[in-house]
Amino acid sequence: MTQTEIIWKYQEAEMELDRLQKELEQTPERQKLRKLRKILQEQTDKIEAHKNGLKQKEAELENGLAKLEALLKEYDLEQDDLNIMMEDEECTAEELTESRKSMESLLEKVNSLRKTLSETKEWIDKTAEAIKETYAKGAKTKRDYEAAKAVVETEKLEHKPVIDKAKKAVDMIAAQLSPELLKRYNTIKKKHPNPVARVSDNRCSGCGMSLPMNTIKKFASGSAIIECENCARILCPEKQE
Ligand SMILES: [Zn+2]
Repeated sequence: MTQTEIIWKYQEAEMELDRLQKELEQTPERQKLRKLRKILQEQTDKIEAHKNGLKQKEAELENGLAKLEALLKEYDLEQDDLNIMMEDEECTAEELTESRKSMESLLEKVNSLRKTLSETKEWIDKTAEAIKETYAKGAKTKRDYEAAKAVVETEKLEHKPVIDKAKKAVDMIAAQLSPELLKRYNTIKKKHPNPVARVSDNRCSGCGMSLPMNTIKKFASGSAIIECENCARILCPEKQE
């Protein structure tokens, strides 16, 4: 067998191995596993986002409570002041009104802050519940994922002999090839998935270009490796039926 014929066989063996590996990658169980992995990731991201939000809201709540405490203290002081003023005969009606106004304004602030804090607390409780729910869902996904993974492992083991055989076939043919030719093949493969092309009607079946006369002559004359001038694929003689 010439090197050209061997490289053609090599390409066939490689394609077969590729087909078998892809087939294994695309079983329904593999697809299920990939889907579950994605869902699991989404659930993890969701929990992470919830936790970050929670942290922020908890800090807001803490600040708010400190602020509320300060406002209530201020209110008590105003109340004390007002009591003193009411006892004081020299105190004018305007001063009393001013003090009452100030207290009213403080009370408004207190009420508004209480409302905000209660909303924040509600949000925190809801988010904590959502985290719990997502954890529960995640646990179920994890169980499904582990089950699918076990099936995939079994599939892999079942396919192993066939794939190993195909790998061995590739290696055995590779051993018959000159290292230079194999290197050239691999370089072309980076550009074309099929680096070897048959010549058909004096055309490269890889790119369809007609081969120049001198290439055809060189090609017919013997065992030299000829590459297509257009696509650089290694040319292989027409299949002899
Ligand atoms: Zn070509």
